[in-house]
Amino acid sequence: MSKTLVMKFGGTSVGSVDALKSAIQIIRDAKKDWDRVVVVTSAMSGVTNLLLDSAASASHGKVDSLPQAAATLREKHFNVAEALIQNSVKLNQVIAEIDDLIFSLVDLCKAIAVLGEASPRAMDTVASLGERMSVRLLAAVVDSAGIPAQAIESTEFVVTNAHFQNAHPDFKVTTEKTRGKLNPLMDKGIIPITTGFIGATPEGAITTLGRGGSDYSAAIIGAVLPADDVWIWTDVDGVMTTDPRIVREAQTLPEISYNEIAELAYYGAKVLHPKTIRPVLDAGIGLRICNTFNPSHPGTRLIPSVKSNGKVDGKVIKAVTAIRKQRLITIEGRGMLGVPGVAARAFGAVASTGTSVPLITQASSEQSICFAVPAELAHTVLSSLEKAFASEIADEDIDRVWSTEDISIITVVGAGMRHTPGVSGRVFSKLGNDGVNVLAIAQGSSEVSISLVVDSADTENAVKALHELIIN
Ligand code: ADP
Ligand code: ASP
Ligand code: MG
Repeated sequence: MSKTLVMKFGGTSVGSVDALKSAIQIIRDAKKDWDRVVVVTSAMSGVTNLLLDSAASASHGKVDSLPQAAATLREKHFNVAEALIQNSVKLNQVIAEIDDLIFSLVDLCKAIAVLGEASPRAMDTVASLGERMSVRLLAAVVDSAGIPAQAIESTEFVVTNAHFQNAHPDFKVTTEKTRGKLNPLMDKGIIPITTGFIGATPEGAITTLGRGGSDYSAAIIGAVLPADDVWIWTDVDGVMTTDPRIVREAQTLPEISYNEIAELAYYGAKVLHPKTIRPVLDAGIGLRICNTFNPSHPGTRLIPSVKSNGKVDGKVIKAVTAIRKQRLITIEGRGMLGVPGVAARAFGAVASTGTSVPLITQASSEQSICFAVPAELAHTVLSSLEKAFASEIADEDIDRVWSTEDISIITVVGAGMRHTPGVSGRVFSKLGNDGVNVLAIAQGSSEVSISLVVDSADTENAVKALHELIIN
């Protein structure tokens, strides 16, 4: 049986000449060890934000920053192309293709400005341009390095529903199309280099899988081929005990279970998109996270479940993570006891706004319900709740529906917590000793995590304090 590897390169991993040189070497090495290799790429770092900001400004009628955005995109892509593609015909061809995409950004933004509105569908078309540019660039530089490679847009085979900005793939159709498009290339010894993050509806409208979704793309492609392994190449040495941007001493976790990474990813560890886990786990595919800038480091391997008591080196808590910019919403009133189906109606009203709830606190009682939502959606959620409970509010069964200022959700993760008494005690004493006030708590239903809520100003202190429990 031939062995297949899917490798995904993140934004920083394709974000500069040096990064691309390293990526080329990684691809060259993979080609030696694997029969078949597929490469998935993100947009160059900063590009997706720039595209979305341009579209957002355009929706307010502002197009004066467009020439600057176009110039930035040209410089970013063309500098790399010029440094790494020697053949002038090839160089001019890839520059022309990328330039076309930049022109289409300008056209799209002008159209958005005229309409005075950017629909989710239009935002996806704009956002897709980042990966559509980087895929051409990466394929051209890999091919120029003497490794046969071809760019192919995943819109040709990742088929999704029309839930723009957070689309869901149709795995059945995607399986057939992915095999149909990628296998013939691989049969000829060519490495398909494809776009992460994007897909298309059956009618051909471009969709995106949600921010950070290129990891998910790699998992989808890995699952449907199927591949033996999916490797996520990023800018840190794998999954670490916490975000190294918050705590410099963060350490790589050589192994982590699917359960644990699922909690970490869901609760804010940006290193892996939370949707990545399910497809690879279901298909029994290996997953590894490694560093483009330190390729000899083994990074992190995902393992099916934690051995023995779940402790690594005697550590019960393995990692700590934070989600910032959330708000706690509380519905409260002494008459709530008598309101039928109040929780179902409350969460129904939240769901109708398209908001997902990362945490429901245990402070919830029959006289109050309390949960977190992303800060930017708090206002919409409050209006929806006030509408849903208008008559209970008028009757004073519900006294008020209100929101806190910005808070952060801090989560500690470790499969060993399930078997170890007193972990919560240690967590809360440590925070208390370090002067961090805990506003609310929620034990994860998976038993491998505990989440708590702190004021946004306490985020870093809480993460640092809990990280000391891991390394000491
Ligand atoms: P990419 O562009 O490669 O997808 P991301 O920026 O999406 O990279 O994710 C990598 C970043 O995730 C790291 O630079 C790091 O700051 C952050 N991060 C957050 N939590 C963790 C963690 N527990 N382990 C490793 N990295 C983390
Ligand atoms: N480029 C996309 C984003 O910035 C997808 C990704 O990088 O995974 O969200
Ligand atoms: Mg990412």
